[in-house]
Amino acid sequence: MEEKTIAQELKARVEAAEKVLVGLGAEWSGLEPQAAEKAYRALARLLQGKDYFIVTVSTDGRILESALDGKRITAPCGNVHWFQCREACTSDIWEEGEVPDGRCPHCGAELIPNTVEAEHYIEEGYMISWREYTAWLARTLNRCLEVLELGTGMGMRELQLLRWPFEKTVFFNNKAHMYRISGEFPQISDEIKDKALSVRENSVEFAGNL
Ligand SMILES: [Zn+2]
Repeated sequence: MEEKTIAQELKARVEAAEKVLVGLGAEWSGLEPQAAEKAYRALARLLQGKDYFIVTVSTDGRILESALDGKRITAPCGNVHWFQCREACTSDIWEEGEVPDGRCPHCGAELIPNTVEAEHYIEEGYMISWREYTAWLARTLNRCLEVLELGTGMGMRELQLLRWPFEKTVFFNNKAHMYRISGEFPQISDEIKDKALSVRENSVEFAGNL
């Protein structure tokens, strides 16, 4: 029998999994529109019909323009299409164009993108989706779970939001398996080395070619 390529095996594993957890790291930030579109389209095709959830550290909001289900995405670092008060006088969040003069209706300060770049980041913006995510994650226990960790580096937010919790999830779930695909940091810790595959390749290109 011919040996399967990594991509073929990944697709087969996703197909067989009951749940699919996807993490998008820093490799998914600052993408050219075409590269982003191609990669998100391929991801959407891969995940179609699956019970999945995506955690992304990207703040460019491109994922929300893709065919991926917005109800299955959480972006804890925020997204540039949502706005908050620069002074954080309120936890209110506004959508693009919702406030024509771009000033906080409460205090008159400038409205700025609701991302971690804000001096006083309002976390309410992503909290609803984050709660959905943690509830979803709790339901993966003892289920056949495939984890796709794509393009995660060693930044503190990537470690806290993706790498560490994903490793923990795979460690504690006997039916879990993980792919860690990253151009720079695909290393896998010893604790999960029998349940995870390390692929040293840019994850956006990898996904785009699926
Ligand atoms: Zn304000």
